Amino acid sequence: MNIKFPLIIVGSQWGDEGKGKVVDLLSDKATHVVRYNGGNNAGHSVVLNGEKFKLSLLPSGVIHKRKLFLSQGVVIDPKILLDEIHFFENRKIRVNLMIDPRVNIVMPYHKALDAATEVWKGKKATGSLHLGIGYCYEDKNNRFGVRFEDLINPESLKERLELIFPLKKLQIEKVYGQKFDSSIEKIYKEYANYGKKLKKYLGDVSSVISGEIKKGKVLFEGAHGTFLDGIFGTYPYTTAVYTVAGGVFPYVGLAPQKIYSMGIVKAYTTRVGNGPFPTELFDQVGAKIREVGGEFGTVSKRPRRCGWLDLCLVKTAIRLSGFDYLTITKLDVLSVADKIKVCVAYKIGGRSVKEVPALMNDFARCTPVYKEFRGWRRDISKVKLFRDLPKEAQIYIKFVEKELKVPVKIISVSPERTQNILL
Ligand code: GDP
Ligand code: MG
Repeated sequence: MNIKFPLIIVGSQWGDEGKGKVVDLLSDKATHVVRYNGGNNAGHSVVLNGEKFKLSLLPSGVIHKRKLFLSQGVVIDPKILLDEIHFFENRKIRVNLMIDPRVNIVMPYHKALDAATEVWKGKKATGSLHLGIGYCYEDKNNRFGVRFEDLINPESLKERLELIFPLKKLQIEKVYGQKFDSSIEKIYKEYANYGKKLKKYLGDVSSVISGEIKKGKVLFEGAHGTFLDGIFGTYPYTTAVYTVAGGVFPYVGLAPQKIYSMGIVKAYTTRVGNGPFPTELFDQVGAKIREVGGEFGTVSKRPRRCGWLDLCLVKTAIRLSGFDYLTITKLDVLSVADKIKVCVAYKIGGRSVKEVPALMNDFARCTPVYKEFRGWRRDISKVKLFRDLPKEAQIYIKFVEKELKVPVKIISVSPERTQNILL
């Protein structure tokens, strides 16, 4: 497996493609691992010797004890981050972390506003987990945020809270009509304490990574997936951030330059929450994939919607992020199906297209055109070499690679770190 650094890992579908496992695996070769977007609404699971580690903020390079970075594009819920740090330190894994001062902090009123807005949207709710991430980004963009720099400086924390809190309280109580039982003093006390504990991690990630990118092997871990991108994803059922590869430049604070990118493609498609999903399965096969694939949210525990692999989605992701390599994950899960379908085009009215349409109204009404493959119905979770895969699985992978015109470098066949076919 010949993969070049600096490298960025991006989900090519709606997230949960198995990026955590791939970042953990590739961290072995990396020196620095940078998480650059999203908050603790993006969950990863990494399995090591049968033990499952759940991460929502720490980069997945933590188990390899790499130098870890949270760049300005990330928003941090400090309690969650401290819990994750303790989890690893209790297992004698030292967390070598740097946090950029420009990172925005998720505050209690963000969560309260998140919950209140979902109630107001009713049936049109985006399916937010009430973690306050979108509201934190809203304040960030509107220059009304609390940054890591403020969190670790009691005076600025107080000053920011005095400016921001009264308006938030009015909004939640008077506009949304919800109770918000909090005060400046209460938040200040709790958050100043988090700041005290996290202060030692402060560092200018933009500057450090700008230098290391030339010397070391930097791995960038993208959260979510291409179609959860706040602009190019399936709006409004998306996150609030860029998830396409190009986001890495401002989200870390880097000049434009060549960064290799790897798209993570789950061998079928899943999505959490609402929104259009052309290849969704409503039958027994979909239920079986959900069960065998463990398709329940890492953070949310919600059942993920499951469907066939959609090459129109992945092709669009390739155009948006320019993948140099692909990883196909969870091929083992498809062992449950007698027949496997792959979407190769969409029909929209009388037209046939091969990419996700720019108009979401078109996307909502498109129907998939499938190519059908024979299943293999065999356990492949121990296979290490491509030639040892059942012929039907080889045909499936080769077809996908040929259609997408990007080389497949890793085929993942189990949650375990070691169970991969490297190409
Ligand atoms: P991420 O958000 O892209 O990092 O993905 P998640 O970690 O949320 O979800 C992927 C899930 O699939 C996790 O529970 C992984 O342990 C698991 N997983 C990853 N790769 C494989 C694989 O090849 N086969 C199987 N069966 N499970 C996998
Ligand atoms: Mg996930």
